[in-house]
Amino acid sequence: MVTIKTEEEIELLRENNLLVSATLAEVGKHIAPGVTTLELDAIAEEFIRSHGAVPGFLGYAGFPNTLCISVNEQIVHGIPSSYALKEGDIVSVDCGTVMKGFYGDSAYTFAVGNIDPQVAKLLQVTKEALYKGVAQAKAGNRVGDIAAAVQGHAEANGFSVVRELVGHGLGRDMHEDPEVPNYGMRGRGPLLKEGMVICIEPMINMGTKYVVFEDDGWTVRTADRKPSAHFEFAVAIRKGGADVLTDFGIIERAIS
Ligand code: MG
Ligand code: MG
Repeated sequence: MVTIKTEEEIELLRENNLLVSATLAEVGKHIAPGVTTLELDAIAEEFIRSHGAVPGFLGYAGFPNTLCISVNEQIVHGIPSSYALKEGDIVSVDCGTVMKGFYGDSAYTFAVGNIDPQVAKLLQVTKEALYKGVAQAKAGNRVGDIAAAVQGHAEANGFSVVRELVGHGLGRDMHEDPEVPNYGMRGRGPLLKEGMVICIEPMINMGTKYVVFEDDGWTVRTADRKPSAHFEFAVAIRKGGADVLTDFGIIERAIS
């Protein structure tokens, strides 16, 4: 069931997603060769709790940590570990919060030091694909308009779109209707209505679109072990366009 949020509820969702953005900025400051993904997880948990919220992913369906941290060929849902980041890695950090009864959920893929130019292009194109999807996220359009915009940009640049995992509605639950795939056809799918809040989260692979679900029960990686990137915005649907509740500006200022 799709829920329509009141203005007050949208502001609570904005508060959560701005805290997620600030958390990602704090994590981003610490991303460097030698840092373990468990250390990043601890930084995020402390930051979220010190701002009066609770980590949204911790214990969600049994997930063991605050962040999903997915390195290189890992697409999403990576579990923080003793793995130490190294120069040339890319690291998707997906973060959730719960505060005042609502969820935040946003993600950013960071470069560790200097990365291969083709991998840098993958990050750039995935972020652009997100923005192209967001540009279609307005009342009167359909989910397929977002999906087609994301897919079109990724594929035009020679990359592929993950099918098994999709964006979603966001509210009092982390995963609400509708599903928001990153592939599809313009004019198809659920109608976007003012007051809906959705997460748009392209997962774009350098090589094959096919994925493997790892035996840890969580991590999803590319079948060919080539890199994958992931960026996620929470947006409220308005008549004139998307009201973006996530702030990448704070993240990019923190890491520049
Ligand atoms: Mg997420
Ligand atoms: Mg999400």
